[in-house]
Amino acid sequence: MNYLSMSGEELKEEREKLLSQFEKYKKKELKLDMSRGKPCVEQLDISEDMLKTISCNEDCFTKKGFDCRNYGLVDGLDSAKELFGEILGIAAGQIIVGGNSSLNLMYDAVTRCLLYGVVGGTGPWIKADSVKFLCPVPGYDRHFGICQSLGIEMVNVPMTKDGPDMDIVEELVKDKAVKGIWCVPKYSNPDGITYSDETVRRFANLKPASPDFRIFWDNAYCVHDLNDDGDVLLNILDECEKAKNPNLPFVFTSTSKITYPGSGVSVVGASKENIAQIKSIMQMQTIGHDKMNMLRHMKYFGSADGMKTYMKKHAEILRPKFELVLNELEKEFKDNEIAQWKSPKGGYFISFNVLSGCAKKTVQLAKDLGVVLTEAGATFPYKIDPNDTNIRIAPTFPPVSELKSAIEVLCLCTKLSCTEKLLEIS
Ligand code: PMP
Repeated sequence: MNYLSMSGEELKEEREKLLSQFEKYKKKELKLDMSRGKPCVEQLDISEDMLKTISCNEDCFTKKGFDCRNYGLVDGLDSAKELFGEILGIAAGQIIVGGNSSLNLMYDAVTRCLLYGVVGGTGPWIKADSVKFLCPVPGYDRHFGICQSLGIEMVNVPMTKDGPDMDIVEELVKDKAVKGIWCVPKYSNPDGITYSDETVRRFANLKPASPDFRIFWDNAYCVHDLNDDGDVLLNILDECEKAKNPNLPFVFTSTSKITYPGSGVSVVGASKENIAQIKSIMQMQTIGHDKMNMLRHMKYFGSADGMKTYMKKHAEILRPKFELVLNELEKEFKDNEIAQWKSPKGGYFISFNVLSGCAKKTVQLAKDLGVVLTEAGATFPYKIDPNDTNIRIAPTFPPVSELKSAIEVLCLCTKLSCTEKLLEIS
């Protein structure tokens, strides 16, 4: 049933039907939360044995004999640098393993640029008249939060099926005030898009007007495939090296959605020069991060392959949840042009685009039925979705039974807000 080809009378009839379903759902007094992309309890339980890897003094040493209980190693354990280096395709010497949050590393990276400037740059960005960041949209709200809190102006760049629209990026970096771009290159948050090889190469070959320009390459979902045929992302550091632009990217990841969010380990990788600069400033901030936790992770995974195998357990839990949402959307909106979505091969989200002007209303109606979704607009800088169209579906946390009710509610509320919109403009 395509709402766009319905007459006014048909739409009114449809709205009446939807309103009576809405009233039925109201009586159910649902209390469901799909607002954030958190792992579910079963996923957290997978890592239980990691907690048992250190239970006495003797367990606290690395293979090389370093006592992890003590101060030192500001850039992390060698074994952890090697493992994450292998995961990211970066030499261990160009990796720093940090604390419990890659967002923290990203925030620090931006503030370092503002206070100290970048290798080969013009000095502290804070002295510039204006600092702008390119923000592929829809994107990750906390990236936008960093910029907003630090007074960095954000410029939207539309996403294509291959990543950010590179024609626009190449044009915008001609502005000297543009000093950075946020990228989630694999299973982007929320679209689930992996950047094509051509996109990665175009990034590596960018010729920004400002020598300060940096790519903030947040590879948070690097090992988060739902199936064995996961997307393959080209190595940005290698491509930048080839393009003689080695200092362009800062690469980030963490184990937040591998082991425990908030209690995992985070990673930054970059060129040798960039890493040297980060380390020299970082050692003023800390004598070292939580090496006991790094050691727990290393003892548990053993190797990069160990970590990849372990991710299959997550995929087994998540696959049915993604399938449920996608099947439900397909069932409800197959021939209906009021909603579009993508089917990601990994990551944590499904990006759902409703008829222009209907996202906020849809999310509000769902809230009225007790289903909390990510706030509409959150996937855009300043929380302003210019078309009011994008809703981020986070299917990982609720149990399957709750997820089913939540998606039914989302579909109903989408139909209701869209019929009302169409009646308004007809
Ligand atoms: N980057 C992206 C793209 C994310 O989606 C998330 C978590 N939702 C993070 C970073 C946060 O990572 P961390 O917990 O390591 O700070």
